[in-house]
Amino acid sequence: MRLGCVSGVTVYVHWTWFLLAAMAVELRPAEVTAAVTLVTLMSVFGIVLLHEFGHALACRSVGGRADRIVLWPLGGVAFVQPPARPGALLWSIIAGPLVNLILIPVLTVLLWLSSGNGAGAWHKTRDVLELLWSINLALLVFNMLPVYPLDGGQTLQAILWFMIGRVRSLRVSAVIGLIVGVAAAGLMLFWKQEFWLALIAVFVVMRSWQGLRMAKVMAAAEAMGYEVEER
Ligand SMILES: [Zn+2]
Repeated sequence: MRLGCVSGVTVYVHWTWFLLAAMAVELRPAEVTAAVTLVTLMSVFGIVLLHEFGHALACRSVGGRADRIVLWPLGGVAFVQPPARPGALLWSIIAGPLVNLILIPVLTVLLWLSSGNGAGAWHKTRDVLELLWSINLALLVFNMLPVYPLDGGQTLQAILWFMIGRVRSLRVSAVIGLIVGVAAAGLMLFWKQEFWLALIAVFVVMRSWQGLRMAKVMAAAEAMGYEVEER
């Protein structure tokens, strides 16, 4: 579903996101109201959206293409196509987590402002802000894990690109993603029974496999003197 267009970037939300919202409201703890659950969900949605805009606007600032953001229950995807330079990739990727980093002091100040002795709605605001503070930090830490295709993994790829070239940097980071992804999927599915985390791990494996195939295509094309557009 198309939500709107800001600075030439069109934002879409996948229908499964509404399914998640309905599930979260239905399965909320007894002491939490439906309104608080929805406000929290919308705020997380906002944080993810800002993160994706970080990627999209940074990519555009270095002359790349970024015209679409899709939000779905496991997070968001900014479809960015930075120019084939390691510096351009590095900036387009790191700008997302940078938004979460900037949000830490912003949320801290908001939390501090709401820490009066008020009751009722005021108290709920503080609870939601506390939760958002932790979620924002968790998103930052998780995204910066050096596992392809997470932001940390792609940051590693961009740094390696400076040193060992584009194809090998992609190959190394995709192999790391593949190994960690397979291990995490097995662990989450058979040991911890964490379905959502297992799903993320499967996504990591699939994207890493794509990355490896892409590296193969790029290597063949480079051998013939062509340049390949990534993604
Ligand atoms: Zn990101």
